Amino acid sequence: MPLIIITGLPTSGKSTRAAQLHAYLAERIAALPQAPTSSPPYRLHLISDITQGISRAVYDLSTLPAHVRSANASEKDARASLYGAVKRVLSPRDIVVLDGLNYIKGWRYQLFCEAKNASTPSAVLQVGCAVERARGVNEARLRRREAVAASGGEVAQGEGEDAEEPYEPGNWDNLVFRYEEPNPMTRWDSPLFTLIWEDNEARAREVFGRIWDVLAGEAKKVVRPNQ
Ligand code: ADP
Repeated sequence: MPLIIITGLPTSGKSTRAAQLHAYLAERIAALPQAPTSSPPYRLHLISDITQGISRAVYDLSTLPAHVRSANASEKDARASLYGAVKRVLSPRDIVVLDGLNYIKGWRYQLFCEAKNASTPSAVLQVGCAVERARGVNEARLRRREAVAASGGEVAQGEGEDAEEPYEPGNWDNLVFRYEEPNPMTRWDSPLFTLIWEDNEARAREVFGRIWDVLAGEAKKVVRPNQ
């Protein structure tokens, strides 16, 4: 089974959906019929900037002179780290949820090819969110960081509070500007599934169910082409 590439604007709710999808897939795997002595039919992985220790700052081109922007080494290194992590585990028995911006179409193409190389299908889940709402999430994170700094680290983490690292405002704007929307007419962006911020749990589960059906079905075809 396959690679699921999450994509969307910065601070648009990608990690939230990735965690929900991961939990949903874990449930579906646990519910599969299994002989008592055999190992589970699928292993599940969640790979993200956080699991790879990648800072938001690697995406920041605002501090670089124009002539080196296209060769931004730190972002390339970050992608190499994510690519390596995906490549290490991807196989027909490994489901990989890749949570990240995944905003460059050439990068999504590269991931699609990697899945093909591993004889396993891929899909894209786009997390849709109004730009102003996503901006509001980042601004709230910036305000929280300022409050923590102003208190000398004394501000306590409230229950359920969003303590993720913010993007610098110029970096955030630039990422929105650079975002390359997935196109379901291309092989590497299909099948394309979408969830928007307002979608409730029932709708999310419906979409996750479709992802499961498409990819589990596809995986069987890929693994056992003659059946
Ligand atoms: P990203 O991974 O795109 O940076 P996160 O998933 O970390 O975004 O979400 C940013 C913030 O928005 C978090 O505080 C999260 O709890 C909240 N959030 C995300 N998606 C939703 C949603 N669909 N409805 C309400 N709050 C959400």
